Amino acid sequence: MLQINIHHIPENGLEIDTTIPSAELEINTGDRIKKITPLVCELKASMVEKDLVVRGNTTMVANVACDKCLVEYEEIIESEDICIVKENTPEIVDLTNDIREDILLAFPQLFLCSDDCKGLCYKCGINLNLEKCKCDFESETSSPWDALNNINFDSDK
Ligand SMILES: [Zn+2]
Ligand SMILES: [Zn+2]
Repeated sequence: MLQINIHHIPENGLEIDTTIPSAELEINTGDRIKKITPLVCELKASMVEKDLVVRGNTTMVANVACDKCLVEYEEIIESEDICIVKENTPEIVDLTNDIREDILLAFPQLFLCSDDCKGLCYKCGINLNLEKCKCDFESETSSPWDALNNINFDSDK
């Protein structure tokens, strides 16, 4: 939990260097996300009149499956330039939820082990990043016309 007592914030701000255990973040890991590390937070809290302002960045490492080749790799999830504003805060403020929502937005839509991941062959399932398969895509693309070669035009004779 990431709680701040606003009375403990000095005038020049309060540095918060902490980690939030992954279990507390309640990130739905599902099939694509295998494992996440605790979230490292480097934040600074300050009071602007009656409002709490928290700025900084958070980062974690997620073991994810590449959406193209399904191989597991480490994706660094970073949320930079966080700015959370809490107006008229109570004495104790819990920022866990705000931090959680912020890092969720930092997850990419598509996990790619590399920008030029070749993925799996849709015919034989081989990982094309590692080896070449023998599937013949040339004949595949021309197959609609290949069928014509098999028609026996002499059949009605
Ligand atoms: Zn991949
Ligand atoms: Zn293949």
